[in-house]
Amino acid sequence: MNVMDIFETMEYGPAPESPAPALQWIKERQPFGLFINNQWVKPASAQYIDSINPSNGKPLAQVAAANSADVDAAVAAARAAFESWGKTPGHVRARYMYAIARHIQKHSRLLAVLESMDNGKSIRETRDLDIPLVARHFYYHAGWAQLMSSELPGYEPVGVVGQIIPWNFPLLMLAWKIAPALAMGNTVVLKPARYTSLTALKFAEIMQEVGLPAGVVNILTGEAFQVGEALVRHPDINKIAFTGSTDVGRSIRRATAGSGKKLSLELGGKSPFIVFDDADLDSVVEGVVDAIWFNQGQVCCAGSRLLVQEDIADSLTSKLRARMEKLRLGDPLDKAVDMGAIVSPGQLEEIQRLVSQGVEEGAEMWQPSWACPTEGYFFPPTLFTNVAPATTIAQVEIFGPVLVAMTFRTPTEAVALANNTRYGLAASVWSENINLALDVAPKLKAGSVWVNCTNMFDASSGFGGYRESGFGREGGKEGLYEYVRPAWENQSLMKAAAHANGAVSAGEKAVEGTQSIVSGEDDEQANGYAAWQLYSDKGFTATLPSIDRTPKMFIKGKQVRPDSGYSRDIYDSQHRVIGQVGEGNRKDIRNAVEAAHAASGWAAGATHNRAQILYYMAENLAIREEEFAHRIVQQSGRPYADAVSEVQTTISRLFSYAAWADKYEGVVHRPPLRGVVLAMNEPIGVIGMACPDEYPMLGFISLVAPAIAMGNTVVAIPSQRSPLSATDCYQVFETSDLPDGVVNIVTGERDPLCQVLADHDDVDAMWYFGSAEGEEYLGALWGVSNPDILVNRPVEAVYRVRVHY
Ligand code: NAD
Ligand code: MN
Repeated sequence: MNVMDIFETMEYGPAPESPAPALQWIKERQPFGLFINNQWVKPASAQYIDSINPSNGKPLAQVAAANSADVDAAVAAARAAFESWGKTPGHVRARYMYAIARHIQKHSRLLAVLESMDNGKSIRETRDLDIPLVARHFYYHAGWAQLMSSELPGYEPVGVVGQIIPWNFPLLMLAWKIAPALAMGNTVVLKPARYTSLTALKFAEIMQEVGLPAGVVNILTGEAFQVGEALVRHPDINKIAFTGSTDVGRSIRRATAGSGKKLSLELGGKSPFIVFDDADLDSVVEGVVDAIWFNQGQVCCAGSRLLVQEDIADSLTSKLRARMEKLRLGDPLDKAVDMGAIVSPGQLEEIQRLVSQGVEEGAEMWQPSWACPTEGYFFPPTLFTNVAPATTIAQVEIFGPVLVAMTFRTPTEAVALANNTRYGLAASVWSENINLALDVAPKLKAGSVWVNCTNMFDASSGFGGYRESGFGREGGKEGLYEYVRPAWENQSLMKAAAHANGAVSAGEKAVEGTQSIVSGEDDEQANGYAAWQLYSDKGFTATLPSIDRTPKMFIKGKQVRPDSGYSRDIYDSQHRVIGQVGEGNRKDIRNAVEAAHAASGWAAGATHNRAQILYYMAENLAIREEEFAHRIVQQSGRPYADAVSEVQTTISRLFSYAAWADKYEGVVHRPPLRGVVLAMNEPIGVIGMACPDEYPMLGFISLVAPAIAMGNTVVAIPSQRSPLSATDCYQVFETSDLPDGVVNIVTGERDPLCQVLADHDDVDAMWYFGSAEGEEYLGALWGVSNPDILVNRPVEAVYRVRVHY
């Protein structure tokens, strides 16, 4: 036998990692308690559940089953801890977080082995990816704790945060949640997934080791319906951060709607993996392995839809099959294994069910010739070809090692196929042509787009979804905003609460929830008002639109009459009729949404051009400053000087958003990986808006201007009480070269119109100013794809008109 023969016939030997230290660690501690206020406590229910090792189906450990009494105790501990943790200097928080990161590294092997045994994923992945990234998250966010006061001035922690995580990356998801929360001064109650609690419990020990103050982080193991739901509904929690399935995300969205809880949702995906014919096919094959067989495909951003340019489809498929034949599946603690076990029998059945459905639907299935171990929950890597884009396996998230392949001919077709999904979490583009890759990438509706690579994560770069993949970002500076709120928001909420209790006088009510926009002395205001009265008393009322000049609605750049044929009266502050506006209905809203949708080319236009149009609007408004001021006085009875000030503030705000139009560009991240991350801000799409009653002009423009500055198109429902300032604006829009359909105005009764908007599939986001009940109702209706309006974030001023009444 020569060397060549030996080389050819050589088999892999096993390279087992010992489970002994992890088993010993479990044995000394179980049954595990709950971690509340830095202590291990028995669950109120006295019940325990088994955590299973999916690679052999045997129980691994007993963990506590918390119930709502434990949730109450944990939230109380977190609330008490928030009092001091929220005020602890950033540098002190940074030291704790730095210590946590160090301790994770010190215990890295135990954590990696525990994670592999509890979840079924290979030790190669836990050792080389999960645990190092966990440490990286704490180091990175320790830095933000240090820098919070200088880099996020005017922001405060949110308070007590409830965090709910899935089983696919147990400790990594914990780190994604806890690190930014602590960095920004929040306290936490975290629920690990039912199947994978052990590394979270080891993490609790680490917090004891570093001496983190009691109550800052509390960990409750148990069942979803007992712990998860109780957390979501708990009245003393200020924010819920959730990662998991879209269905559960939707139910959490409903449960938190109208409660004032901040929410971020990281949900499912069906991410496209697009291969152009000039791609390096050998790299592509390894990319596919990482995209869909990494973690047995139980990855929210798994590249589960392979889109291949037609002329290379056959050669790529045969290369892929050859590679799949060589994948090694087996004992997750074997260091030479590529794929481990599926997390649970239920998950395995679900994968089997969907795969059978794929076969029934007529797609062609291929699996390697080797067999999976029969002990434990294993499923082989699977490739479907001949898949029709509308079939179940092409649309539904399988969350297993199953790849579905489709072909395309042109880049345009690739983009259309890629975006043909309810989701929008991630995408990969493979091409050696940089022009093609950079042209296609921004057209994909996905939170992350990888070019010639896939499944790359780092703490420095925000991760999160579009559409039914949820909203909010984790990682990067962009992720910090999920865990802070502007300090002024607190004050205006307090004012709103006081008002709800009847503690605010009528005079205060007019400016409630907003900063005062009037800088002049009280006397001057009174004089200004007197001047206006004089002005009108002298018979200049003719400058006001008379009743027969009923403003129409504004749809697709045209003034249109309401479909209903009805109008509604608008009153002044003394309850005299000053005009009528159209009574908008379902059909008007539909027309407006259609127009807004059709105007989506606005997003593709040059940012410079959008800025120019906004400046032009300011200019045209300035010419008619008096007229608009009179209109405000007429509707509200406020002093003339105050009204002038509102118009001037509106003009200034148009300048601000014009300025932002070509400056809110995003950032470049430098993760410790090959390449760079370009984090770009994109428009959301069609935004529906119910505008506030306070400051009818400023409130309207403060919502519309930032939205269109960022390339969105708008359907606005002006203030129900004082819509005339908004309807008058169409004259400004018409004279400012604003393209048709970018801003549409439908007048009428706020809540019914909002319901139609929220129901409409082509509305991507909504601003709602109205009653708490309305907010709750809409939140429930709206579901999971309601994004936080990212475009407005640094332009805090727009929030300043947010009012509850
Ligand atoms: P899941 O939604 O069933 O469970 C996630 C977590 O929520 C678990 O801790 C569970 O106990 C809890 N939970 C379940 N029902 C609840 C309820 N009614 N109220 C409160 N909490 C509840 O999801 P899963 O099966 O554990 O995880 C798989 C899913 O997670 C996949 O759809 C995947 O795409 C998604 N996921 C998304 C991301 C992301 O970042 N977007 C990351 C990982 C996983
Ligand atoms: Mn387990």
